[in-house]
Amino acid sequence: MPYDDSPPPTRRARPLSVAAALAAVCLTAAGCGGGPEADGAGAASPRPGADAASSTAPTPTGQQPEPSGTASPSDSGSGSAKPLPKGPLTGRTVVIDPGHNPRNRDHTREINEKVDIGTGRKECDTTGTSTDDGYAEARFTLDVSHRLRTLLEAEGARVRLTHDADRPFGPCIDERARIGNEAKADAVVSVHADGSAVGNRGFHVILPAGVKGGGADTSKIVKSSADLGARIAGHFVRTTGSAPSNYVGGNTGLDTRNDLGGLNLSTVPKVFVECGNMRDPKDAALLTSASWRQKAAQGLADGITSYLKG
Ligand SMILES: [Zn+2]
Repeated sequence: MPYDDSPPPTRRARPLSVAAALAAVCLTAAGCGGGPEADGAGAASPRPGADAASSTAPTPTGQQPEPSGTASPSDSGSGSAKPLPKGPLTGRTVVIDPGHNPRNRDHTREINEKVDIGTGRKECDTTGTSTDDGYAEARFTLDVSHRLRTLLEAEGARVRLTHDADRPFGPCIDERARIGNEAKADAVVSVHADGSAVGNRGFHVILPAGVKGGGADTSKIVKSSADLGARIAGHFVRTTGSAPSNYVGGNTGLDTRNDLGGLNLSTVPKVFVECGNMRDPKDAALLTSASWRQKAAQGLADGITSYLKG
């Protein structure tokens, strides 16, 4: 259902402009424009391709022990059974979409099947990337998603995950969008990390472009998603200290795309977040740190909360 049918009467559509988001980011980021996150020589280099659009990824060469997340496992689809505390997000529904699936790499035939994304056809899902040491993006996304779920539930939100590694592959990108739509989510965040060139650093939030075709029509979510994304970018800077991407989005931490089925098919406010670049050693050191992932989850939670409180 269109997000207009969702119940929050108190939230007005009051999107932050990209300029405002940039100002907020740069005013609050110690590293913005010259700090330790901006010292790479790769700034303004051509974009080598964000992971979300790529179906190729290196096969992880090993496994690292992963500190467990702070949330209980197995909560896909139906949300938590335990009672939620009353909080600022009581009555709100947030869908978290952990990018990829750790088992996708064992199901390349299935995930390469094309699905309809309204404006065309695209692979069901992709394997995602990994660090050079073999820490898979799909494990990163699940860990951050668990942490994010715990934080949002503590504020009273009803949280659903699109999957919890409880299926052999996927879900496909069209189903990932459908889960958010059918939940009538007030906000959806798809969690990713990028697989770009060494020297490309920082995070960026991907916003849906205005697209219309087939089953895709983002006209009702472009503004609200931009607001959601800008708030997440601002809070992500504050909690992680990471600078906005030096290779996508002109240092705003925001990018707009029309080629992602998970955004094109969404009828509720939704963004993707690329938390860092797994192929850059400095970013990888952050992404593989459990304490950094907690900060990342906090930034996402704060941005979502800011958006939902309006
Ligand atoms: Zn990804």
